[in-house]
Amino acid sequence: MSKKSQIDSLHYLQKMGIEILTNTFVVSYDGELLKTNNGKTIKTKTVIWSAGISANTIQGIPKTSVGQGQRLLVDQTNALEYTEAVYVLGDMALMKTPKYPNGHPQLANVAINQAKNLAKNLKRKEQGLELKKYEYTDLGTMATVGRNKSVVDLPTVHLKGFFAWAIWMFLHLMLILSVKNKLIIFINWAWAYITKNSALRIIIKEH
Ligand SMILES: Cc1cc2nc3c(=O)[nH]c(=O)nc-3n(C[C@H](O)[C@H](O)[C@H](O)COP(=O)(O)OP(=O)(O)OC[C@H]3O[C@@H](n4cnc5c(N)ncnc54)[C@H](O)[C@@H]3O)c2cc1C
Repeated sequence: MSKKSQIDSLHYLQKMGIEILTNTFVVSYDGELLKTNNGKTIKTKTVIWSAGISANTIQGIPKTSVGQGQRLLVDQTNALEYTEAVYVLGDMALMKTPKYPNGHPQLANVAINQAKNLAKNLKRKEQGLELKKYEYTDLGTMATVGRNKSVVDLPTVHLKGFFAWAIWMFLHLMLILSVKNKLIIFINWAWAYITKNSALRIIIKEH
């Protein structure tokens, strides 16, 4: 997201009492002591890893086709490099384009639109037509940190705070299927906002 959104989110988290270490990588953890690349050590028995995932690999894919984070290198038609008739979409695909030299962001929109483009291209291929190259059009990105704390990057505008949070809530509500679900979730959200008492979102099962 934009620099402004990065800084605003950082401030939101810091205000909530969270200490953020930027440009810091975890290098080891032995169950007691966590060490970072810049020599810092943190004594802790609890570490929650949220630093990302790497893709599943499958046998038979040439090593030369595997890129950063185990993502598979594809051209702009999603064809896997150095193979024939193998296509890779979405999070797994590492498509380096002039606009995105490090690949596209791993977002649902990218996966959906690459799939649409590929479906059309497969038909074009059968008809002997030229294939269309994919490029991601970023219509905006949103992130929420918590109550009244969100950031929104639109192509020309940056928003934050309550207004951004309201947009985030509205769009998520609109993306939920069926009017009944929308209504129930809206009532739940409104109730949680007024009472400041959100229901637990965990399922406890007896063994
Ligand atoms: C917590 C979280 C929050 C997110 N929030 C957002 C958001 O707000 N907005 C947004 O745009 N994106 C969000 N994303 C990212 C978004 O979910 C992904 O970019 C998107 O799902 C990618 O789609 P995909 O089809 O490439 O992969 P996936 O949706 O991961 O689908 C891959 C499928 O392949 C299956 N699979 C894996 N290995 C094999 C195998 N060997 N054989 C057969 N099947 C296999 C998996 O089970 C899975 O069903 C979020 C992701 C996470 C984890």
